Amino acid sequence: MDIVILSRKASLYSTRRLREAAVERGHDVRVVDYLRCYMDITSHRPRVLYQGEELVPDAIIPRIGASYTFYGTAVVRQFEMMGVFTVNESQAINRSRDKLRSTQLLARDGVGLPVTGFAHSTKDIDGLISIAGGSPCVVKLIEGTQGVGVILAETKKAAQAVIEAFRGLDANILVQEFIKEAGGSDIRCIVVGNRVIATMKRQAAPGEFRSNLHRGGYADKIKITPEERTTAKRAAKTMGLNVAGVDILRSNHGPVVMEVNSSPGLEGIEGATEVDVAGKVIEFIEQHAKPGRQRDKGK
Ligand code: ADP
Ligand code: GLU
Repeated sequence: MDIVILSRKASLYSTRRLREAAVERGHDVRVVDYLRCYMDITSHRPRVLYQGEELVPDAIIPRIGASYTFYGTAVVRQFEMMGVFTVNESQAINRSRDKLRSTQLLARDGVGLPVTGFAHSTKDIDGLISIAGGSPCVVKLIEGTQGVGVILAETKKAAQAVIEAFRGLDANILVQEFIKEAGGSDIRCIVVGNRVIATMKRQAAPGEFRSNLHRGGYADKIKITPEERTTAKRAAKTMGLNVAGVDILRSNHGPVVMEVNSSPGLEGIEGATEVDVAGKVIEFIEQHAKPGRQRDKGK
């Protein structure tokens, strides 16, 4: 098959691994910077162009960076309009980038979540804190990634002060029950198709409650429970993602989903588990891509 990986940089670990895995399986593969793609969108024959050349792959693997969701998903959508198979659809990627929408959809489908309130500029700060069950609670800026803008407010006074400060930033905020019993660790599940193919535990650095590897956390493999497995699969399904990284915390009311990522990094998980995650993604394409007969034409 002819596979295009949409990625800003061929040298990124995940991109490199996906390319290797495709080559190993005998595919023609090429890394294309989606920001350099341009499109013929109005003609009866939609096209994606790159360096003067028309791209007509059998399948694409989108690795769209969070800062380029808008343009990146437009490129993915254009491929969908051409009937090209995509590992994750544009609509699902967009959905996963919107924390409020994602949380609402997961709640609607009954997926376990931390008790959560949303706000923009309410004056009823105490009401908002009480939605999350009082203090301690976690206050988050919706636009944050890698743990930036995630604050643990130990007391009601601290929570009030943080919410008040965020309110002044004209930002969307989320107030959440603090899952203390998770002990600063979370579980990253990689879902491919309808299977959980790799799981790791990330443990926060001492004195830190955020387990992001960027915040000094470390990773190790872990066995998950059947309930956790079901939660991860259902979360990916609700989001409409074929490939997803689902982050779960172990709470005293069962597994709760923190986040569903549409371009999960492969380095941490492959390192911790020795699972060939990139290979599983290529296998998924082999099993599901029907060149020229993509179901979703960007709708
Ligand atoms: P980001 O999207 O920036 O990574 P998250 O919302 O995933 O932000 O939070 C980062 C980390 O902080 C999580 O992986 C988790 O370890 C910890 N964390 C976040 N929310 C809670 C919570 N409500 N209770 C306990 N720990 C939390
Ligand atoms: N029915 C909606 C859709 O597929 C799901 C809701 C959403 O993603 O906001 O677009």
